[in-house]
Amino acid sequence: MQPDLTDQILELVRLTSTDLPSDVEEKLRKSKDQEAEGSAAEGALDTILKNVEMAREKSTPICQDTGTPIFYITYPEGWSTRKLSAQIKDAVIQATAKAYLRPNSVNSVTGKNTGDNSGDEHYPSLHFQEGGGDELIIELILKGGGCENVSTQYKLPDGSLTAGRDLDGVRKTVLDAVVKAQGKGCAPGVLGVAIGGDRGSSYAASKEALLRQLDDKNPDPILAELEEKITRQANQLDIGPMGFRGKTTVLGTKVKNLHRLPASYFVSIAYMCWAFRRRRMIYQSGEVEYQ
Ligand code: SF4
Repeated sequence: MQPDLTDQILELVRLTSTDLPSDVEEKLRKSKDQEAEGSAAEGALDTILKNVEMAREKSTPICQDTGTPIFYITYPEGWSTRKLSAQIKDAVIQATAKAYLRPNSVNSVTGKNTGDNSGDEHYPSLHFQEGGGDELIIELILKGGGCENVSTQYKLPDGSLTAGRDLDGVRKTVLDAVVKAQGKGCAPGVLGVAIGGDRGSSYAASKEALLRQLDDKNPDPILAELEEKITRQANQLDIGPMGFRGKTTVLGTKVKNLHRLPASYFVSIAYMCWAFRRRRMIYQSGEVEYQ
């Protein structure tokens, strides 16, 4: 029988909101060491890291904006997605009552806040897919509003950027997005990039790209090279942490390649702020593991 995992999902939400993943924290520490001693960039990263430690210690949110909860659920054959949805939504409401999440869900027409992060069928954002195994995997990203506002989409070719329908055109659009995000979106950021698809699938895939570990390598050598190049060149823009200038503008770039129509060539950029809150829960045979 399918278990009730509301408590376990509540713990996933708490961890995601209050305990930055180790790969992100490690990258922030390395970046701080690379900045000039006494610089504003070093100071900004130092403050960020102190904040990360305090949030973990006190089990309080890493940032006042706890973001849009976006769940990616891979479920075993035969499980009810209706029951899983109800458990996730209940866990989000409980997490809000415990102040792990800020009440962020607002009716777009009336402006009324539901007060508990309940919402319509799109809030919280739930993405289900059936897996081949007997484990349930729930991945959660809390996507801040400021960094979501600077996420964007381009249509190639783009004459204003002299960006053609090729990987160099992709590179130019992503760097343009980073330049336009400066002073907003709380750098250093992480770039999820999708090449191709339709407008909707492209945006969705750019967010999925953020599920990868910061220190992994794209198995496609062409995309791996593109990721490395974009990260390097973005860090040469001298935007720096929180826009204070410096060597750390982005922590990493993750690219997904989607099939597309010959008529369209979209590039979507999911800009994630330094508060890169993403966690994973694996449930199998009654045991739960958090990563
Ligand atoms: S963009 Fe990120 S770090 Fe900045 S306020 Fe929003 S959630 Fe917080």
